[in-house]
Amino acid sequence: MKPTEIAVPDYFHKVVDCQWACPAHTPVPEYIRLIAAGRHDDAYMVNWESNVFPGVLGRTCDRPCEPACRRGRVEDQNKEKPEPVAICRLKRVAADNKGDIRERLSAAPEKMNGKHVACVGAGPASLTVARDLVRSGYQVTVFDQDPRAGGMIRSQIPRFRLPESVIDEEVGYVIDAGVTFRGGVRINSMKKLLAENFDAIFVGSGAPRGRDLDVPGRKDAAKNIHIGIDWLSSVSFGHITKIGKRVVVLGGGNTAMDCCRTSRRLGGADVKVIVRSGFDEMKASSWEKEDAMHEGIPILNYLVPKEFLHTKGKLTGVVFEKVQAVYDDRGRRSLVPTGEPDEEHPCDDVLVAVGQENAFPWIERDCGIEFDEWGMPVVSEVTMQSSLPNVLFGGDAAFGPKNIIWAVAHGHDAAISIDRLCNGEDPEVRPPPMVNLSNQKMGIHEWTYDNDISNDLRHRGAALSELRCANRICVAALH
Ligand SMILES: Cc1cc2nc3c(=O)[nH]c(=O)nc-3n(C[C@H](O)[C@H](O)[C@H](O)COP(=O)(O)OP(=O)(O)OC[C@H]3O[C@@H](n4cnc5c(N)ncnc54)[C@H](O)[C@@H]3O)c2cc1C
Ligand code: SF4
Repeated sequence: MKPTEIAVPDYFHKVVDCQWACPAHTPVPEYIRLIAAGRHDDAYMVNWESNVFPGVLGRTCDRPCEPACRRGRVEDQNKEKPEPVAICRLKRVAADNKGDIRERLSAAPEKMNGKHVACVGAGPASLTVARDLVRSGYQVTVFDQDPRAGGMIRSQIPRFRLPESVIDEEVGYVIDAGVTFRGGVRINSMKKLLAENFDAIFVGSGAPRGRDLDVPGRKDAAKNIHIGIDWLSSVSFGHITKIGKRVVVLGGGNTAMDCCRTSRRLGGADVKVIVRSGFDEMKASSWEKEDAMHEGIPILNYLVPKEFLHTKGKLTGVVFEKVQAVYDDRGRRSLVPTGEPDEEHPCDDVLVAVGQENAFPWIERDCGIEFDEWGMPVVSEVTMQSSLPNVLFGGDAAFGPKNIIWAVAHGHDAAISIDRLCNGEDPEVRPPPMVNLSNQKMGIHEWTYDNDISNDLRHRGAALSELRCANRICVAALH
């Protein structure tokens, strides 16, 4: 048997599966213990150090940690439907029950280090870079074309899932720490930004373009066919306040789920989600699908949009071809027509939520940043650097649309690289996982040498069985 490689620091971090699975390596067991002890402020701060937006993530995280939770495996032996500890929702418990923690948030030091960094976009990736660097004495300017910071957290995620007060609070913690925020400023030229001689530039401009559907009738009925992410941001900013009674949402991801549930709230009485693939293959998280169905929204599968119907430019419905999944010898799936008659779904509005793409029209292709054949910047997964070493990318702008916690993780990595660059050090040399620029805690040293046994008292409510299942958390049990 191959000996375990304990010389590799990663080994010690993989021991705690959920913590390892979280892209920002949030110390999950530590904050759950603190919640069980009723120490919500401390639990919040443990989260804030690593994932920056505990209140936001406690409501919205994609939860890559939960499938890794060992409890799920224990339950596997006992129950039909194994469930992990509700790691994500417990973050919300800490955020909602904490007191005033502002004094505990570190801000810019009195003496700055004279280095200037620009961030393009004020989404979670840039805000993480800004938070980590400002605390270390960097002067950080964040530009966003929108007047308020937050990126898609503010412009896309509907308010019924994420109240604006939570966004204001946690985005405010970053900006108020000494970051210069220039809202309403769109960067139109990377060359001009480079000429401003920032010591480093971080591009966190997201993946702002929603994919369209090019089928007959699209242009004729354009007035009532909306691109999902543009429509959602218009709703968030109050430009759209109603929708037709009958709404068809096309797409099977989380954006489609937000579109259909938002339509419901804006007057859509007959809202349905129609997806080309099968239910289990849909990209939406299982809980998002469940929430939509709980609101009486049907999800219809294996229907491929074929034509938009209209009368004199007024949308009247969508025609779908019925397909089925067929697998070849190698298990590859394709969707083939069943030969049954097409299905027609009458509607007043269609929301197209079939994916997002990146767009960098403001980065001149001859400015030194290399792009690949798909129009994406060539970015190091380790340092987040582009081919111009002092221009870094992160979040959705780096490798395509992901989620908030990945944007945060990229932000931490980029901040470490910028700090090393500015100090003449090699950004390829990385600290151990779970060490971010502003917090040296939980490095390999602590894991291996300072892991003293502590005789903690057992706290009432600490039984993990009480903390299980996102939809069944008994908050009272935590007090
Ligand atoms: C409908 C929808 C729902 C989602 N729900 C969730 C969820 O529940 N959980 C989750 O984890 N993730 C969710 N996501 C994904 C998540 O919002 C993104 O992955 C995340 O916000 C990406 O962060 P970012 O910092 O890379 O960029 P963004 O949040 O996209 O921010 C980029 C910012 O850059 C600005 N910008 C762009 N170009 C320029 C320029 N040239 N000059 C100035 N400013 C510029 C934009 O205005 C924007 O504010 C959702 C996405 C959508 C579309
Ligand atoms: S931030 Fe998200 S992935 Fe990380 S521990 Fe919290 S819920 Fe899990």
